[in-house]
Amino acid sequence: MSLHDELAKLRDLQQVDTQIYQREQARQALDSGDALKQEAIALLKQHDAAAAALRTAEGTQRDHELALKGLEEKRKAVNAKLYGGRITNPKELGDLQKDEEMIAGQISHLEDVLLEAMEVAERARAEEAEIGTALARAKRRWQETVAHTKAETARLTQEIAALQPERDRLAARMDQSLLRRYDEIRRHSQGIGLAVTDSGICSACHITLNRELMDRMVEGVDVVLCENCGRILSPSL
Ligand SMILES: [Zn+2]
Repeated sequence: MSLHDELAKLRDLQQVDTQIYQREQARQALDSGDALKQEAIALLKQHDAAAAALRTAEGTQRDHELALKGLEEKRKAVNAKLYGGRITNPKELGDLQKDEEMIAGQISHLEDVLLEAMEVAERARAEEAEIGTALARAKRRWQETVAHTKAETARLTQEIAALQPERDRLAARMDQSLLRRYDEIRRHSQGIGLAVTDSGICSACHITLNRELMDRMVEGVDVVLCENCGRILSPSL
């Protein structure tokens, strides 16, 4: 069997190997979703913190509301005594008047404090909602990526498995020492062990091959390697 015949068989093998290699590369390049997962976890922590801040702010608001309600009831009670007509002692009425003024001052102050607490709670609510939306989006993207990667991995794995018998068949009919050489080159040459040339240009690395190399390849006496990329050179037909 001539070297040219062997090279022709190798070209067929290379075609199948290229198809397998492309699928292996595509499978490797699939996004594991790890980065998106980390993003979602970071947002989850942020969201927990925002939710805790919101609960605190709402609690503070509620405390102020209760305190205000208490003061208003107290004021109502003082006013009832003050204007109820049952107390006539001027000293007592004067004390009640002072009480009323003091409570009114406290109410006024607490109303300001409550207003501020409501604003704080409002901001905390908006923040919690915003981070919650970002978290939901990040989770969805992560899940979609993982699902896509899983489906693509299965598809590519199946396609590789379907190509394998043809690879085995073509490899079995090869000269085994040439096959070993080709496989060895392929391992460290992006899956391509064979380059084709007719025009004097290596199909794999695109260097212009020297004349002597081309002549030896055409002669087909020994296996010729591209001087640049080290791949086995073959005529295209
Ligand atoms: Zn080359």
